[in-house]
Amino acid sequence: QAKKLGGNRVKFYSNDMNHQAMFRIELESYLRKALEKNEFFLCYQPFIDIQSKRVIGAEALIRWDHPKLGLVSPAEFIPLAEETGLITDIGVWVLRSACLEAKRWHEIGIGDMTISVNVSAHQFQQPTFIQEVKKALMASGLEPSYLQLELTESVMLRNATYSIAVMKELQELGVQLSVDDFGTGYSSLSYLRDLPINNLKIDRSFIKNLRYDSKDVAIVHAIVTMGKGLNLKVIAEGIESEEQLQLLETLSCDVAQGYHLSKPRGQEEFEKFIKESLMSFI
Ligand code: C2E
Ligand code: MG
Ligand code: MG
Ligand code: MG
Repeated sequence: QAKKLGGNRVKFYSNDMNHQAMFRIELESYLRKALEKNEFFLCYQPFIDIQSKRVIGAEALIRWDHPKLGLVSPAEFIPLAEETGLITDIGVWVLRSACLEAKRWHEIGIGDMTISVNVSAHQFQQPTFIQEVKKALMASGLEPSYLQLELTESVMLRNATYSIAVMKELQELGVQLSVDDFGTGYSSLSYLRDLPINNLKIDRSFIKNLRYDSKDVAIVHAIVTMGKGLNLKVIAEGIESEEQLQLLETLSCDVAQGYHLSKPRGQEEFEKFIKESLMSFI
C-alpha cells in the first residue's frame, strides 16, 4: 500500500524528496481546513444481493474536492488524516452524514437499505468512538441494524482485548460489523472465532483475476464455505465482469459490489440508480 501511495505521488509531483515533503505539509494544511470549508462529500457504492439481484445497501466512500488540487483520493489523504489525528473529526462527519443519508433513503421509500461506513485504526481506538456511533444513530433516527461498520484485520487486532470489548458493545447496540479487505492481513484465522463479526468482505485482489480455472476460485470457495460455517455473510468486492458475478453466484457468495454493478456515485446519481433498479430489478 505504501508503495502504491508513493507511486501516485511521483506521478503527480516531481520525485524530488523536498517536493514530496513540501507537498505533504501543504496537503496537511489543506486537510485541516477541509471540514470547515465543506470540501468533503460522500459517494455510495451499492451492495447487491447475488440471489435476488436487489440492491440491499451501499458503502459510503469519502471524497475530497479541493479547489486547487481537485479530487484527492482517500487512499492518499486517509493515511495522512490518521497520522495527524484529523481522522477523528472527519470520521465523525462521515458517520453522521452516512446515517442521515440512509435514514433519508428509508423515508423517501427507496428501500430499507443498509449503510456501510469505513472505520480506520485511530478512529476506532478513540475512547469516544462508541459515543460517536450512538450520537450519529440518535441524530439521524436510523435503526442501528441498518448501520454496518467496516474494519480491517489490522484495525481489529491492534489491541485485541480492547477491540473485542468495543465490538461487543457495538453489536449489542444492534450495529453490524464487517471485516474489510479480508484475506490480505497477516493474522491467523483464530480471530474469526474470538471477534464478534457479521460479514466478511473478500478483498478485491482475489476477485480481480477470478476465472473458472484460477487458483482464486479455490480461495474464494474456501472463504465462502468458511463464512457459511461461521454464520457470516460473505461479500465480494471489486467485481468488474459478468463472468466474475456468475462465478460468485455459483460459489454461493451472498453479496456483490464492484464497478460491473455500479461505481461509487454521488448522492443524486445514487438515488437515481436505486429508483431505476427498483423498476428493472437490474
Ligand atoms: P475500501 O473500503 O476497501 O473500498 C473499496 C475501494 O475499491 C474504493 O476505493 C472503491 O471505489 C474501489 N472499488 C470498488 N469497486 C471496484 C472495482 O470493481 N474495481 C476497482 N479497481 N476498484 C473498485 P476508494 O473510494 O478510492 O477508497 C479507497 C479506500 O479508502 C477504501 O478502501 C477505504 O479503506 C478508504 N476510505 C474510503 N472512504 C473512507 C471513509 O469514509 N473513512 C475511512 N476511514 N476510510 C475510507
Ligand atoms: Mg470498505
Ligand atoms: Mg475493501
Ligand atoms: Mg481496500
